Amino acid sequence: MRAKTFAKGVHPWDFKELSKQRPTEVVKPGKRVVIPLHQHTGAPAEPLVKKGDRLLVGQKIGEAKGFISAPVHSSVSGTVLSVAPFLSPVGRKVLCVEIENDDGYEVNPSIRPCHEGIEEYTPQEVRESVREAGIVGLGGAAFPTAVKLSPPKDQTIDAVVLNGAECEPYLTTDHRLMLERADEILKAAEAVRMTVGAKEIHVGIEENKGDVIDLWSRKVKGIPHVHVEAVKTKYPQGGEKMLIKALLNREVPCGGLPFNVGVIVQNVGTLNAVYDSLTTGMPLIKRGLTISGDGVAKPSNLEVSIGTLFSDLIEGCGGYKGDVNRVLMGGPMMGISQSTDQVPVIKATSGILVMAGAAPGGKEYPCIGCNSCTNHCPMGLVPTTIVSLVRAGKAMESKDWGLTDCMECGTCAFVCPAHIPLVQWVRYGKAEYLKEKKRLESQG
Ligand code: SF4
Ligand code: SF4
Repeated sequence: MRAKTFAKGVHPWDFKELSKQRPTEVVKPGKRVVIPLHQHTGAPAEPLVKKGDRLLVGQKIGEAKGFISAPVHSSVSGTVLSVAPFLSPVGRKVLCVEIENDDGYEVNPSIRPCHEGIEEYTPQEVRESVREAGIVGLGGAAFPTAVKLSPPKDQTIDAVVLNGAECEPYLTTDHRLMLERADEILKAAEAVRMTVGAKEIHVGIEENKGDVIDLWSRKVKGIPHVHVEAVKTKYPQGGEKMLIKALLNREVPCGGLPFNVGVIVQNVGTLNAVYDSLTTGMPLIKRGLTISGDGVAKPSNLEVSIGTLFSDLIEGCGGYKGDVNRVLMGGPMMGISQSTDQVPVIKATSGILVMAGAAPGGKEYPCIGCNSCTNHCPMGLVPTTIVSLVRAGKAMESKDWGLTDCMECGTCAFVCPAHIPLVQWVRYGKAEYLKEKKRLESQG
C-alpha cells in the first residue's frame, strides 16, 4: 500500500533513533513547581489562589475566562509561594502560581469521574468534562479541546482524524504513547466520534513508525469505521491541513478550519488525556514529552507534571553533555529557543531539545531568487514575497499574499540557502498586521 501525503514539504533527518526505543518513564517534579495561568490558545485563566494557600493535586488554581480559554489545575500538593509573573517557555512573562511541592501528592477528594465507564458519557458530558479538565491540544498548538468538540450547529462532521504523524524531528513521545496506550487512545477517539456525531475515524501514522502501524492495524481489525493509514514521512505531515489532504483528499479553505470540510483532528496525546480525565476525573496536570538532542546525556520519553522546571528534567536525564548551544521547547522546525532552563513545562511542551556543537544556520545573505522556499511551502505561499513586503513595512499588503495563512512550519527557512530568517519575519509581519488592523478599526 502506497503511503498517502500532501504536495511539497521537506525531508529533514529525523534523529528519532535517539529516543524511540525508550519507554515512557514517569518522573516526579522538584521541590518547586511553577504553573502558568496562560498556557493555551485564547484568554488567560484568572487566579483562584493566593500566597500561603494549601493546594491538593488536581485542585483548580485558575478559572477559564471566556469560550476560548482553559482552566488550570495544580499538579502537586503543597503551599502557594507566590502568584506572580515568571518567564514562560513561550518567551514572555506570564502570571504563574509558584508552589512549594510537599512531595505528598495528596489528591483533591472531589476528583472522581462522572461515570464508571467512558461509554456511558453523553456528548454534552464529554464536552463539559473536557472543558473542566482544562484539556487542550497536546500536539503543540494548545487549542482548547472542548471548543473543537463544539463545531457550529449547521456544520456536519463526518470524520475524526487521529494525528499520529509526529513529523517534527527528534520527538518520539507520541510514538511511545501509541505503542503503550493504544486501547485507551482508541476508546477516547470513539467518545470523541460519538460527541461530534462523526461516522468514521481515520488514523494517520508516519511510515517511520512501522511498529505502531502494525499494532494499530491489528487493534482495529474488524472495526469497519476505523481506518489506520500510513502517511509519508515528510515534514510537516502532522499539520492539520496536510493530514486532512493526505488522508481524505479534502482541502481546508484559506482562513478556514477543519470543521469547514467536515473534519475534526485530534492529536493522540490529547486523546490519551481525554481518556484519563473521563475515566478518573483527574484534570490535565501531566503530559508526555521527549527530551532529546546531542546535548543531553540520556535522551528519554517522560511523563511529567505540568509546572516541572526544564532544569529538573534535564538533570534527571543525566544532565548536559558537551558544549550546549541551544535549548528549545518543541522540535527543531517549530520549537521556541529558550534563554534559560528555569522555565516550566506547560501543556504545549511536546519536547525539550538540547543541542550541542556549532549553532545551526549561518550568516544571512541577500535573497538569490532561487524559489526554493516557494517550491517547498506546503501552504502554496510565496514566502520571499511575503517577507519582502513585511520588511518594506507593508504588512497589510502581505496579507493578500497569504501572510495570515502561514502556519509558521519553518519549511521555507529550512531550505533557504541565504539563511534568511523567513519565519521570524512572518511572525513579525503578523504582529504588525494585527496592530494596523486594530488601528484602522478604531478609526471606524
Ligand atoms: S513557514 Fe509559512 S511560508 Fe514558510 S513554508 Fe511554512 S507555511 Fe510556508
Ligand atoms: S529560498 Fe531564500 S534565497 Fe531562495 S528565493 Fe527563498 S528567500 Fe530567496
